[in-house]
Order: sequence, then C-alpha cells, then structure tokens
Amino acid sequence: MQALMFQERRRMEMREVDAPFPGPGEAIVEVAACGVCGSDLEGYVGTPGMADRRVPPLLLGHEFAGTVLEGPDEWLGRAVAIHPLVTDGSCRFCRSGRRYLCPNRELIGLNRPGALAQQVVVPLSGLHALPEGVPQWRGALAEPLAVAVHAVELAGPLLEREVLVFGGGAIGFFVAWAARRAGAKVQVIDISDTRREQAAALGIASADAPQGEVDVTFDTVGIEATRAAAITHLAPGGTAVFVGLHDDESPFSFYGLILQERQVRGSYCYSDQDFARAVSLCGEVPDDYIAHVPLQEGASAFDALAAGSSEYLKVLLEPDGPSLSEVSPTCT
Ligand SMILES: [Zn+2]
Repeated sequence: MQALMFQERRRMEMREVDAPFPGPGEAIVEVAACGVCGSDLEGYVGTPGMADRRVPPLLLGHEFAGTVLEGPDEWLGRAVAIHPLVTDGSCRFCRSGRRYLCPNRELIGLNRPGALAQQVVVPLSGLHALPEGVPQWRGALAEPLAVAVHAVELAGPLLEREVLVFGGGAIGFFVAWAARRAGAKVQVIDISDTRREQAAALGIASADAPQGEVDVTFDTVGIEATRAAAITHLAPGGTAVFVGLHDDESPFSFYGLILQERQVRGSYCYSDQDFARAVSLCGEVPDDYIAHVPLQEGASAFDALAAGSSEYLKVLLEPDGPSLSEVSPTCT
C-alpha cells in the first residue's frame, strides 16, 4: 500500500510499504481522512520540545477515520473514528476510566504505524462508529475535538463563566467552541490576524492580547508568555487548564497561585467517554477553514504548514482525496 512516510526532518515521502496485518483483537481500517496534528508538524520541523518525541523514520497520523476493512462481522464496512491510544487494559488507570494515563500507553502514529496511509491496524477497543449521515472525513476531527472536550470537562461547570482561550489554532478553536457550547462567554487570544479573523468568522470573540480577569483560562499554545498570561488573567479562585505542549519548562509565579487560590490543571488526551462525546459532536463542529488534500500531495502540505503559509485550521490528508473532497462544501 501507499504511505506518506516521515523519512527525516523536513522530509515526507510517498512510499510503497507492506500492507498491515491485524493481530488478535485488531481490525484494519481503510483510511478516509487523517488530520495533520500540530505535534506531528513540530516533530517534522524538529522543535526542541517535540524533536525527541517524533524521531524519523515514522509513519505518523493519529487523527483519522475510515471504513473497517477487516475485523469482526459486526464492524465490517462500518464508518468509524478511532481512539488512537493503545493501553494495557490492566493497570489502575485503565481500570478506572482514565486509560489515557496508562504507563504503558502507545499512540497509533507514534509508537505504532499511523494513518498517513491507505490502511492502518487498530485495536477493536479503539473503534467508534460514526453517527448516521456524518461524512467520514469529519470523523478525523473527533480526535482533536476530544482533546478539547476533555480540557473543557476538567475546567468544571462553565455556564455564564468568562473564559479566555490562548491560541486560535485547531485545538484552541475546538476548546473555544466546546466551552461556548457549555454556556461560557469565550474570547480567543491570538497574535495572528488570520487566526482572529477565523475565530470572528466562526462567531467567537477574539483579541490580540488579554484584558482583565476571567474565571477560567485555557492555554493551547504552551509557551512562557501564554502560560504566564493564563495565570495572571485568572480571577481569584479561578482555574487555568494547560493543554499546549510547545515548551517543557516555563517560569511560574507560585505567589500568584497561592495568594489568590488559583488552580492549575494539566490536560492530556481524553477518556473513552470524552472520545465518544467528540464523535457525537464531530458532525456539528464548523467545517470552515478545513482543507482536504490528497495524501499523495501530503509532502507539500507539510512544507506549506511548516512555512506557516496555511490559512487552514486543519489540513486533512485523504488517500482518495479528490473524490472524497466532493462531499465538502469547503473543498480546495
Ligand atoms: Zn493501563
């Protein structure tokens, strides 16, 4: 089969690779669409934070959906989104509904062959049927949406709460969308004019710098400036949720935390429940600013994204690109 391999830093290449073979408890999914994640892009470029977490050669791709090609009868031919974390199922986290914290977790598209290919092997436990009538490519939005659903869940009740979301990329936008859906008054903070215009076009308030104090902040960037602002713009007793992974270490004001009794929470991935919720929502999330690119043109898509020249919130690579993109009103 054809796969878009991450061969070395800043080089993706279409190659013929062996078709995958499913083991016990696994299925083969024919990929309809796979999103390019910010973390994949940082690995591609080799940013300090992500260079060690994405070492080529690798078959990337963990945001994907498609059709079950091989597997148990009840799944054959079904349209699915895939929870890409593979866990041991036996540790205390797996047994308590938080398998995303499993010490033996692996990610499809990092520790296992990913979905920037025609086919991919997935565990049956990761299969989630798409809602009736939802185009398969939308299932590829379930993974980043699940990250947002989980982060919003960790923030607690948001009805009528004032919320700042730092970063207007895909995760920032999905967090803002999910927080607003939970009843929050949301503003997205991003220094990019393009990102702010996109947020505005999608009906979400935005600014290039935060003002005042709010009840809840989300940092989807992960650099010193946004992490600091996510705390200093928090009202006493407020909660900051950290999602962005750009940098590992950043300075931190403990007095600001202790004396105002602010809370900080790290948010990583999603539970099975969060993922199921994201799958149920993936037909509803706005599809503006989503690019559909044939997988065969994936190498140039990575280049364009690395150069920062993409105007899209999310690029979906599709093995049968042209025919699939006809289902989208925003096809390019
Ligand atoms: Zn486990």
